[in-house]
Amino acid sequence: MFVLLSIIFCCFVYLISVKLLYNRFKKLWPVLLNNVSLSPCTKKDLNVLSTYDRYDFNSRNSEKDNLHTLNDNRVLIVTAHPDDECMFFAPTILKLVESNALVHLLCLSSGNYYNQGDQRKKELVDSCAVLGIPANRVTIIDNKELPDDPKADWSTALISALILTHIRAHAIHLVLTFDEGGVSGHVNHIAIHKAFRYLVSVGRIPEDCQVLCLHTISIFRKYLSVLELPISWFLPSSFYCVIGPEEYRRAKEAMLRHRSQLLWFRRLYLLFSRYMFINTFRAITVETKNVKIY
Ligand SMILES: [Zn+2]
Repeated sequence: MFVLLSIIFCCFVYLISVKLLYNRFKKLWPVLLNNVSLSPCTKKDLNVLSTYDRYDFNSRNSEKDNLHTLNDNRVLIVTAHPDDECMFFAPTILKLVESNALVHLLCLSSGNYYNQGDQRKKELVDSCAVLGIPANRVTIIDNKELPDDPKADWSTALISALILTHIRAHAIHLVLTFDEGGVSGHVNHIAIHKAFRYLVSVGRIPEDCQVLCLHTISIFRKYLSVLELPISWFLPSSFYCVIGPEEYRRAKEAMLRHRSQLLWFRRLYLLFSRYMFINTFRAITVETKNVKIY
């Protein structure tokens, strides 16, 4: 009986902590935006936002002084397939759009693995419209050298060139993409990260542009839904986004536009994936000796 009561008490405390942290996040959001958008020496100063920084919020300038929008700041999300934007990046896109950032999406394939490329391109544009990205800011690369295929090795040189052209053409300030784990482990996702590591290692990313990678978490954490929030909160990250029930409905609606992808397990994903509610990002890390270009 004592054990049962202890478990119930722990669950209750955990749920209260989720609620408190969510409310705390809403107050911290302007500061988080400042960390990614307003630093004059962004690449040098991009350090991990420590737990201390989060609690030091009240000792900084007033919230009013810190409140900036991302007006005129251009953000680029780089993905591999149609549906990556809502399965993995929806919380971030929704929060950035809400903050008046100009969000662009670069999707490096048409998702043609089952010969549904044309349909999937339309689905992607529809999904982006729901998330707040207009069609003229969505670019889908349909190149035979970049097939939607978990066995295909995407050329680092080709991806790097496409990404760099896009960053320069749209004067991008912030790029968000996959980390070395690719979130789902898909090799096309990981290929994008390798290209960014290459670009960072050779200093090709413009000085006023930051690159942050979506953190790949363990499968246990991945399917805790919003209950994962306390774990993400206490671990270091450079930038993080959390959304509430109303925004979650929009994220879900965006995923429902990908009609060709709505298999039963993806419906479960919508319910249980933490990435539908929470995104955490880290600065890209580069070990020059391991970066190969081919
Ligand atoms: Zn993908």
